[in-house]
Amino acid sequence: MSVTKETVLEALRAVPGPHERGDIVSQGLVSEIVVAGKDVMFAINVDPAEAAHLEPLRQAAERAVSNVPGIGKVMVALTAEKKANGSGAEAPTAGARPAPPPAGPQAGAGRRQSGGVPGVKHIIAVASGKGGVGKSTTAVNLALGLQSLGLKVAVLDADVYGPSMPRLLGLTGRPEPVAPGSRTLKPLQGFGLKVMSIGFLVEEDTPMIWRGPMVMSALQQMLREVDWGDTDIMVVDMPPGTGDAQLTLAQQTPLAGAVIVSTPQDLALIDARKGLNMFRRVDVPVLGIIENMSYFVCHKCGERHEIFGHGGARMEADRLGVQFLGEIPLDPEMRLRSDSGQPIVVSRPDSLQAAIFRDIAAKVWAAVAGETATPRPAPRIVVE
Ligand code: ADP
Repeated sequence: MSVTKETVLEALRAVPGPHERGDIVSQGLVSEIVVAGKDVMFAINVDPAEAAHLEPLRQAAERAVSNVPGIGKVMVALTAEKKANGSGAEAPTAGARPAPPPAGPQAGAGRRQSGGVPGVKHIIAVASGKGGVGKSTTAVNLALGLQSLGLKVAVLDADVYGPSMPRLLGLTGRPEPVAPGSRTLKPLQGFGLKVMSIGFLVEEDTPMIWRGPMVMSALQQMLREVDWGDTDIMVVDMPPGTGDAQLTLAQQTPLAGAVIVSTPQDLALIDARKGLNMFRRVDVPVLGIIENMSYFVCHKCGERHEIFGHGGARMEADRLGVQFLGEIPLDPEMRLRSDSGQPIVVSRPDSLQAAIFRDIAAKVWAAVAGETATPRPAPRIVVE
């Protein structure tokens, strides 16, 4: 049986809405539903004041649709988009006031050096205010985009709570010491990138009960006790969120700058703003914001669906005085490739998505290394 919007709506009618006033469909909370083959995507519009408590509702909706036979992956987002004016304008959420604009357009950002990590010229963080926005996917494709500029690139998977680099780069195995008895490890190599992840050091099903200090010492080891060789730029995939571990990491890693990934919805943007403020607190320049899952182009009809109110991140970047780096469409194929260790920049270098990542990489490199940087073109890596 093929999946239709009706089937999805039917399943969602069993999900009670807030305040026991009927189900989420009859309350008019469900956005346009996009069905791509077996995969389903939609958003639930909620009152911004209640958003913090409605994650269980999102999960219930996801479960209800996932349980329908024949349905593949289900992607559900909460959005605080105001229905009344339909403008997607930002919801007036407490604590969401814009931060003061930075002093000058990222002044000095280009001059920073990564003192501290031998051989590594620049380190940038890829961060998000919350999980699931595509931060790791963006980090890996940004790294590959930087490599396509002719740079020597490393990736440090600092998402100790849920390391994704082994999966995203299809890497298994353990890093070996550079010499017998040495504490220094050789990074693994994936598509030309030097890669280190806590995922290489612990079994996948080991519970990740890392306390703050343990996280830091694990990360410091991965940063400083790995032979990174000669690296132009290292991309650090940060743990999602803005807690103490993230703050300490931002503070203790010699970062040249940070890139914030957000989905377009207001709720995700509020989280993104927290991320941005976190870096500002520790004086790390924010190089820009990337909008991921920005819009969806139907493979069959070619129509562009903006299910999550696309454009929010660009507006937010303008408001906050940081560069908007680009928008990446929601693409089920990208997810399939990504989740099977075939990042889109190398597995489909001619795709729109790959071009977008290369463009973003060029902007990031210009911000980090200064306008005069002219990286040499690298041989293109094509994966058959
Ligand atoms: P995070 O690091 O923010 O938790 P991930 O990078 O692990 O997020 O992505 C979460 C899921 O979303 C993964 O299954 C990934 O393949 C998918 N994903 C990320 N970006 C996109 C996109 N633009 N289109 C479709 N799927 C995406």
